[in-house]
Amino acid sequence: MSEKVKQVLSMAKDKEVQMVDIKFIDMPGTWQHFSVPMTEFDEGTFTEGLGFDGSSIRGFKAINESDMILIPDPDTAIIDPFCEVPTMSIICNIYDPLTGEKYNRDPRIIAQKAEEYLRETGIADTSYWGPEAEFFIFDSVSFDQNQHSGYYFIDSEEGAWNSGRMEGGPNLGYRPRYKEGYFPVAPVDSMQNLRTEMVLTMQKCGIVVEAQHHEVATAGQAEIDMKFAPLVKMADQLMLFKYIIKNTAVKYGKTATFMPKPLFLDNGSGMHVHQSLWKDGQPLFFDADGYAGLSETALYYIGGILKHAPALSALCNTTTNSFKRLVPGFEAPVSLVYSKRNRSASIRIPMYSNNPKAKRIELRFPDPTCNPYLAFSAMLMAGIDGIQNKIHPGNALEKDMYELTPEEAAEIKSLPVSLEGALKALEADHGFLLKGGVFDKDLLETWIEYKMTREVDAVRKRPHPYEFMLYFDC
Ligand code: GLN
Ligand code: MG
Ligand code: MG
Ligand code: MG
Repeated sequence: MSEKVKQVLSMAKDKEVQMVDIKFIDMPGTWQHFSVPMTEFDEGTFTEGLGFDGSSIRGFKAINESDMILIPDPDTAIIDPFCEVPTMSIICNIYDPLTGEKYNRDPRIIAQKAEEYLRETGIADTSYWGPEAEFFIFDSVSFDQNQHSGYYFIDSEEGAWNSGRMEGGPNLGYRPRYKEGYFPVAPVDSMQNLRTEMVLTMQKCGIVVEAQHHEVATAGQAEIDMKFAPLVKMADQLMLFKYIIKNTAVKYGKTATFMPKPLFLDNGSGMHVHQSLWKDGQPLFFDADGYAGLSETALYYIGGILKHAPALSALCNTTTNSFKRLVPGFEAPVSLVYSKRNRSASIRIPMYSNNPKAKRIELRFPDPTCNPYLAFSAMLMAGIDGIQNKIHPGNALEKDMYELTPEEAAEIKSLPVSLEGALKALEADHGFLLKGGVFDKDLLETWIEYKMTREVDAVRKRPHPYEFMLYFDC
């Protein structure tokens, strides 16, 4: 029995665990689970695994080949903070019981392969990831009221402000003014205690949190920042992070959403992703003489990301709603350029510190609805491609991208404007993802087909409320 498995079983004993919650990640990127009594869970489970029916899981197997096996990863065991009975939660990898092989559509396995491939290239041995997932906390009652009073017809800044009354009870008038949510103290910020409880719960579960704060948008927009971690570890943490945020909100009769653009005319929720490569404990992105303190390796990494950005957006901005966030005026990027400090560029180079270890790039177009295993892996593969092919990103752009003249704008490439456009870009440009067998064609084809039919077409076929405004009296 491995040391790690021993530790997990002894933790279960110490904490008097009665149930084990078995979790895995579906293709779109949400946790799925079932539970087994602790009496049925022992060291054998870590090798034999637990069976489930893959045919009912989004994006997985056809019904005729649906038996699958989950192998728990002992590194991921924690005590679930929301279960009434002591319950151990554990994340699993998915295997095919017939061949004994890793399942090619398991996002977590793809992320493990991406980490392996990075090591194989010899470029680096570790990649570090720091996602800043933003979200909204809505009062469930007023959220419902707002739906009925019609978000869709808000067409002025004042309307957006009014839509932001998310607190139940008497209206005391304290609420963030339009675009001023970042960051007055309480009572304007009414979510302090809730965010703090989220942070404390995260800490209990082993997540290192750096800060929590209200975000710019009017209606209870929030951000909680985790300390950077390696790729798979961070993707695992992000799943737990969302689980804690949503369940803490529910505990207080609120609802938290990571939907990128719930409110027209106010800031959306992004997930900026800070990233850097390391080898033998040394950071590879720093060079005191380079632009913004960046090494040549970092510049090529940026070059790869910018080159493949349209395809990447199909894995980083994975909903039809994602593209409603990527419009000018709300601190979300549109242009495929990089820049120090500039928050309207797709890649910003943070300049807070001169410490070589802090040198990283911040990719700003991803949003928190992505599947983090696929998104981080895809970004890494684009960066590796940039380094292998010495793709120079050209000069940085220091201007406010929202203020460019038409001539300047014509020179600059932009992100796709729809999920459909992003999926087509991925169809046309995915060779960089197939390297080292990290992603395979089956997964990418399934992704594109799933997103096109279940989301792009599904939304396109439904009359939109705003169409009633435009066309009802035609
Ligand atoms: N909410 C903005 C976005 O959509 C980011 C705001 C910020 O963190 N400065 O990316
Ligand atoms: Mg931030
Ligand atoms: Mg932010
Ligand atoms: Mg940021």
